[in-house]
Amino acid sequence: MTSRNSLVALLSSVNKSFELAKAIREGAADSTDGALRMAELVATIIDCKFYVAEVEAFVRDRERRISELEQALQIKGHLIRFEDAYYETDSDGQRAGSPYCSRCWEADHRAIHLSRAPLVQSWLCPQCKSTFTLT
Ligand SMILES: [Zn+2]
Repeated sequence: MTSRNSLVALLSSVNKSFELAKAIREGAADSTDGALRMAELVATIIDCKFYVAEVEAFVRDRERRISELEQALQIKGHLIRFEDAYYETDSDGQRAGSPYCSRCWEADHRAIHLSRAPLVQSWLCPQCKSTFTLT
């Protein structure tokens, strides 16, 4: 379910809960109809909790992605490409530090450090699993 669908479903469930609570308050809570409406209200509130959890997960994911993009924006002006990887630059504009994955940077704007793959003499991206041969 998409976040927009979750929001629509949440609002619908909240409205339905409100209408059920109003009907119970105005009607015969002791009657069979009142008992059925009360059971429906409880089920609808449970639906609300489910949709709230989905929306919360979506918001957390978006906040994480915003943070990643803010970091990418800060580092963007300090990266240079050398061979098949990106490096931060020192005060002289020369490459410094360990390499970043060019695939992750160019496709997703994620600065992911490469790790040495000792058995094959290459570098491995822990995110996308791309391998690079760097000097
Ligand atoms: Zn990668």
